[in-house]
Amino acid sequence: MRYASLGSGSRGNATLVVENERAVLIDCGFSKRNVLTRLQASGTDPRQLDGVFVTHEHGDHAKGVVALCEGLNIPFYASFGTARKMEWLEHPLWRCIRSDEVMTVGAMGVLPVVVPHDAEEPLQFVIENAQQRRLGVLSDLGSLTPHILSAYEGCHGLQVEANHDPQMLRSGPYPPSLQARVAGNFGHLSNQQCAQLLERLMWDGLQHVTAGHISEKNNARTLVGEALCGVLGCAPSDVRLLEQDAVSDWCQL
Ligand SMILES: [Zn+2]
Ligand SMILES: [Zn+2]
Repeated sequence: MRYASLGSGSRGNATLVVENERAVLIDCGFSKRNVLTRLQASGTDPRQLDGVFVTHEHGDHAKGVVALCEGLNIPFYASFGTARKMEWLEHPLWRCIRSDEVMTVGAMGVLPVVVPHDAEEPLQFVIENAQQRRLGVLSDLGSLTPHILSAYEGCHGLQVEANHDPQMLRSGPYPPSLQARVAGNFGHLSNQQCAQLLERLMWDGLQHVTAGHISEKNNARTLVGEALCGVLGCAPSDVRLLEQDAVSDWCQL
């Protein structure tokens, strides 16, 4: 199994996961045209896509889902709550997924995991192949729950959220109400919460860790590196950070 981020941040998210040359996208928070350009940059033919898994209804995750899937005639998978918010309930390409029920697409099993976030019924995903290689994709959550920690145990690859630095958030441009939302239990993970998460999920089999959904206003990439380098046991500059406007390198599991 291999995976790459097509872009990550508050202006759009999409993660490509490939097994046996068949692919799924986790989220499509870019326009159809933009995501097709990014797919091409990753060396992926759109015809390899078998579906799009949608974490929640926020625009940076769901914006291009329908246009892309209608264009390719492939299904999109989302919780009932997300589909209701997006007015997808009558859409012929929508497939309903539920927390803790594995959905098999091609040679991949996709496990939806419920997370605390200010959306209708947000899910994040653990993807497993036939060899039990596991990728955990986890962003847009305000706090860590025992359920999340157990669902993401034993992952060989982790793509996690390091959204904000609490000090920068407090002194940043957001109004107090939005600051409280971002920092709250249903908001986003801070760099320090991300480090705590990784500390709990660290094990011998973990090969790749990438951090994304990094706020452009309330965080600095150097601060993410400094927060995560201890738990990852590397230099701050070697912590692998995703970018908003660039396709990442592939990670192979
Ligand atoms: Zn988001
Ligand atoms: Zn969100």
